[in-house]
Amino acid sequence: MGKVARTGQKNHESARMKLPKDRDNDYSAEAMKNRASYLSELSNFPVSHLTSGSVNPELTRGNIESIIGFAQVPVGVIGPLRINGEHANGDFYVPLSTTEGALIASYNRGARAVSLSGGVNVVVTGDSMQRAPYFVLENVFKAREFVEWIQANLSALQEVTATTTRHGKLDNLRCFLQGRTAFVRLNFSTGDAMGMNMITKASYEICRYIEANYPIDHYVIESNMAVDKKPAHINSILGRGKTVTAEVFFKKAVVNRVLRTTAKAIDDAYRRQVAGGQMAGIVGSNGHIANGIAALFLACGQDLANVTESCMGYIYTEALGDDLYVSLQLPSLIIGTVGGGVSLPTQRECLEIIGCYGKGKAKKFAEVAAATLMAGEISLAASLVAGDFVTAHEKYGRNRPRKKASE
Ligand code: NAP
Repeated sequence: MGKVARTGQKNHESARMKLPKDRDNDYSAEAMKNRASYLSELSNFPVSHLTSGSVNPELTRGNIESIIGFAQVPVGVIGPLRINGEHANGDFYVPLSTTEGALIASYNRGARAVSLSGGVNVVVTGDSMQRAPYFVLENVFKAREFVEWIQANLSALQEVTATTTRHGKLDNLRCFLQGRTAFVRLNFSTGDAMGMNMITKASYEICRYIEANYPIDHYVIESNMAVDKKPAHINSILGRGKTVTAEVFFKKAVVNRVLRTTAKAIDDAYRRQVAGGQMAGIVGSNGHIANGIAALFLACGQDLANVTESCMGYIYTEALGDDLYVSLQLPSLIIGTVGGGVSLPTQRECLEIIGCYGKGKAKKFAEVAAATLMAGEISLAASLVAGDFVTAHEKYGRNRPRKKASE
């Protein structure tokens, strides 16, 4: 066993017994600070920044438990980024939260190249969120009969859904058999919410309705076929959350002057990177979509675990003479502008900056996200082929360990 740094091992062993909890109001500032002080003492390190934010901890009810404070992650901005969408139209400043130096600078350069080329054309082509319960039948013949029954009874399941939510709708379902187990992928539209709480409740009532009306052996509400919070080909093919497609026609002068390379060099590099990615077995084909997704999700109150599905993206390039065509397909962008963490104060501020807070804004947010990711992709591609990938990180992205907490 390794050494225990700074603090007594005994304290850590008894930590679970002592963490303060306020049974009357565990979201009060006092309850939060009591826990933080306890952890300060335990770790022999001042826990003060965590508790010194401006946000009232009472607002976090429904978002977190045992709160000890707020992570103060820096937020930068890129833009103006020109977007020609069906919902997002105009020039946008996009807030991104990260601790990775060079990321904002790189996305910003991409935003400049995109905007000088006329902007990102972008459309949302799909909108659905899944739960996928499984049902166990007596044998394969009964399992197939069940699939026929459930497909014929879609409207009854839609009525059940309507008793649980105003904005969630069961649009359709798709069944997959494995022996006597039937996997049922329920596809919902969820309005402006990301929707997982909403449709989990609906799916539970659907399962109970099926159990009461069909002789199944038993069911489990999630089979892992949704697929929530894991990268998976099924979501890459069938879509999950918002499916978005974007494109930019980069002009020669922009590629040469802003990106400091040529259309041919980027097109050539992308094709070889697709080949490398295939050999490596990655789902998707992109440079670093996870960077932009994580930074946007963190700033705008999205569930960070959904970076896993959302970062599956496919880049396609074509040299049009000396100009460059780049498209980006995002099959599984999991976002919401209502519910989840979007109403927390800083998260709401960031959504308001892009005009994407609240009702009627989810598709606009999806378009802004896709345009942002396009900016990041083109900038990375250019820096890789132009040879300034390392120098940019050396200039913007190096951090040496600090000795004191206040440094
Ligand atoms: P939510 O905050 O649980 O619910 C959203 C609420 O907003 C619903 O009550 C909905 O009412 C209401 N609403 C008002 N206007 C709306 C509009 N224009 N569009 C859509 N809804 C509107 O949010 P959620 O999106 O369902 O769930 C997101 C959370 O689920 C995230 O925090 C995520 O971390 C978490 N999550 C849960 C699971 C799970 O298995 N339960 C899994 C992964 C993530 P109606 O329902 O009456 O329409």
